[in-house]
Amino acid sequence: MSNYIWHPRSQMKDYEEYPAVHIKRGKGIYVYDDNDKSYLDAVSSWWVNLFGHSNDRINEAVVEQINTLEHVIFANFTHDKAEEFAEKIIKLSPDRLEKVFFADNGSSSVEIALKMAFHAQQFKGNKNKTKFVALEGAYHGETLGALSVCDLDDYSKIYKPLIKSTYKAKSPDCYRCDLKRSNCNAECFSSMAEIIEENHESIAAVIIEPMIQGAAGMNMYSPIYLKKLREYCDKYDVYFIADEIAVGFGRTGKMFACEHAEISPDLMTLSKGISGGYMPMSAVLLSNEIYNIFYNDYEEGKSFFHSHTYSGNPLGCAAACEVLNIFEEEHIIEKIKDLEMKLRKFVNKYLPKHDNIGEYRQLGFVGAIELVQDSKLKNGFPWKDRIGYKIYQESIKRGLILRPLDNVLYFMPPYCIKDDELEWMVKTAIEVIALVIDDEYYN
Ligand code: PMP
Repeated sequence: MSNYIWHPRSQMKDYEEYPAVHIKRGKGIYVYDDNDKSYLDAVSSWWVNLFGHSNDRINEAVVEQINTLEHVIFANFTHDKAEEFAEKIIKLSPDRLEKVFFADNGSSSVEIALKMAFHAQQFKGNKNKTKFVALEGAYHGETLGALSVCDLDDYSKIYKPLIKSTYKAKSPDCYRCDLKRSNCNAECFSSMAEIIEENHESIAAVIIEPMIQGAAGMNMYSPIYLKKLREYCDKYDVYFIADEIAVGFGRTGKMFACEHAEISPDLMTLSKGISGGYMPMSAVLLSNEIYNIFYNDYEEGKSFFHSHTYSGNPLGCAAACEVLNIFEEEHIIEKIKDLEMKLRKFVNKYLPKHDNIGEYRQLGFVGAIELVQDSKLKNGFPWKDRIGYKIYQESIKRGLILRPLDNVLYFMPPYCIKDDELEWMVKTAIEVIALVIDDEYYN
């Protein structure tokens, strides 16, 4: 292991005992280490990979592009693949979204959406609309602007003096709610409603992860919540930012998670699956209403002067175009319906009823097992126990990549996983849970 690298989201001292796994190559749902040991990538390499590692179609598209044009400045210049992608994604996205602004990672697209929303409100004369609303448990990235709309202490607490204060609405925590998921009316929206009613004059936008709050622990909630939010945003002239960075591109069983609620946001952030896991790339989709606010003669302070050097990178756009071709030609959304059923079937087969299994929840091809100390109290294991990290270590020994979010173990594999691989993934994960929890608490 290199002595020169500081790995992301890691305490480097942990690496003394568990050095970074050195990956040599990847194919399909597997990556392979120096000894050619395979690891099934059940987390799609941080939720980016859709169609497998070293996918033949995407490889070919990127190689063709690299031999044609690797990069060009995107201010005052354009190229085929950016234009092709923009047209395709706008046709696929919810109605209100008509324009694409490119960036190069998820956090930067969140920064752009926040800045655009604020700036557009300023143009409209809403000078006091300077604040944002996010959910408790929200995760929108880790640059300072994005952190200010996050609500996970691990990432943001220490940086509080550096970040902007944001209204936080209660998160729709269905697992701990007394109402039934299947027939609630998103009563939990009342906290958001109250914040907007009382403070709308100072609110520029609400930002939300539609349908699943990912980093909070794959917290899944009702589409009614999003419908209500759309109504409130319209009523109080507040922009609706849907952060689909994790949930877009089919993960929830629809191309975009907003489709579950049949609503269209004013701004949508996309990244991760956008390039099939090939290139750092992101995009903000926005309404013509917002675009037209900025469309003007050249005057100081009246343009959206935001740029990232690799915006619209042709290699990323070529991969992204091929991703959309695969979606269409290989009927991926249909295929995900089938995968969704199979994942549920295998979990039902192997997951025992056990006091430490709080809940299994699933939306589309995202499945999550919430581990608890006591299923009646629904209390998680203390963070110091590092249950998630232990599950990760044990799964790695077995050739499976799992990265639980504290007490929540989730499955989000690439869509090319086969039935026997899916079954093995579920079975092995559940064996690992049993081992880690029994070791810790009962032996
Ligand atoms: N928003 C959401 C919902 C995310 O899941 C993530 C990444 N996990 C981000 C934003 C930030 O993306 P990036 O890591 O590419 O900056």
